[in-house]
Amino acid sequence: GFTCGIVGLPNVGKSTIFNALTKAGAQSANYPFCTIDPNVGVVNVPDPRLHQLAAIVNPQRVIPTTMEFVDIAGLVKGASQGEGLGNQFLGHIRAVDAVAHVVRCFEDENITHVSGSVDPLQDMEIINTELILADLQALERRTDRLRKMLKGPQAKEVQLELSLVERLVKHFNQGLMGNTFECSTEEQTLLESFQLLTTKPLLYVCNVSEDDAAEPDENSQVKAVRNRAAQEGAGVVILSGKIEAELSELSEEEASEFLADLGLAESGLNALIREGYQLLGLLTYFTAGEKEVRAWTVPQNTKAPQAAAVIHTDIERGFIRAEVTSFADAIAAGSMKKAAEAGKMRLEGKEYEVQDGDVVYFRFNV
Ligand code: GDP
Repeated sequence: GFTCGIVGLPNVGKSTIFNALTKAGAQSANYPFCTIDPNVGVVNVPDPRLHQLAAIVNPQRVIPTTMEFVDIAGLVKGASQGEGLGNQFLGHIRAVDAVAHVVRCFEDENITHVSGSVDPLQDMEIINTELILADLQALERRTDRLRKMLKGPQAKEVQLELSLVERLVKHFNQGLMGNTFECSTEEQTLLESFQLLTTKPLLYVCNVSEDDAAEPDENSQVKAVRNRAAQEGAGVVILSGKIEAELSELSEEEASEFLADLGLAESGLNALIREGYQLLGLLTYFTAGEKEVRAWTVPQNTKAPQAAAVIHTDIERGFIRAEVTSFADAIAAGSMKKAAEAGKMRLEGKEYEVQDGDVVYFRFNV
């Protein structure tokens, strides 16, 4: 599955948000809530299509796809120098697919702000600086290693990598995030292999007060975050930790009513997952059998056998064909069988790239 790490300065509302998300997301669950590590939560991805599909298939079980959230507390100024539990936390960030950086946009005189006042741009700057410093350290170690290899048998490749590393170091020394670094396609592949922190897909989560949640752009600090995020190619999600905490205590019906009363179109959980999918370039496809209707997550441009591998690697290995019906065609026909009879089911081979909303049946040799 895909993992999103929640980071941010102390007292910005990370734990509140993490707890609310994992509680709300686990509520409708067939999926057992993951309790191995209290800082890790598996959340069902809300998707109305899954239930529409279930309504025409009548399966025994309906299983949503999931996303994992990790509460990575402890990032403070000086973390890259090993302050606090610094480096340990940076290691946790290295392991996630995307980073959700919570910044505080709510005023509350009872809750101390680590820098004295509510200033989300400064929050962003502090955390980003630590991440950039950590990346610089990693690049320094890489430079040392590469220099020693310059006279070796792969001198040419080493020289190319070294030139990339040197340009990256310059970029970071200007205080810029790895996400905004421009390079060739080949260099991009190399860059990804470095597993830096500031090249990870990044979302800023503005934790606003309950009053601001419905019209967040009235809040000038939210606007400032949006502008900065746009420059960095990062996503933005606006939510209120307080509202999310209340939502997580409610049934699905009550939650909808509560959202409507507040003038909100969706929960923060929905918004966060939607933005996360967008940022990570993910899509959802479905399997629809009598036993189980289920949603699965794969990156865009995944070919059918590799898409099948998330179900079971045996299907990838023995892949013959995929029977594919689009979600819209399945719903319009009223059943999978009728869709097939109407000629809406296609047979696709191993080069087919699975599309968002495809309803797929894989044929394979055992
Ligand atoms: P963390 O240190 O970033 O994990 O922050 P916490 O989630 O522990 O929150 C710190 C304090 O801020 C707690 O007292 C929360 O109840 C409070 N808090 C979190 N989100 C909100 C919010 O949206 N509005 C207000 N007023 N307080 C919040």
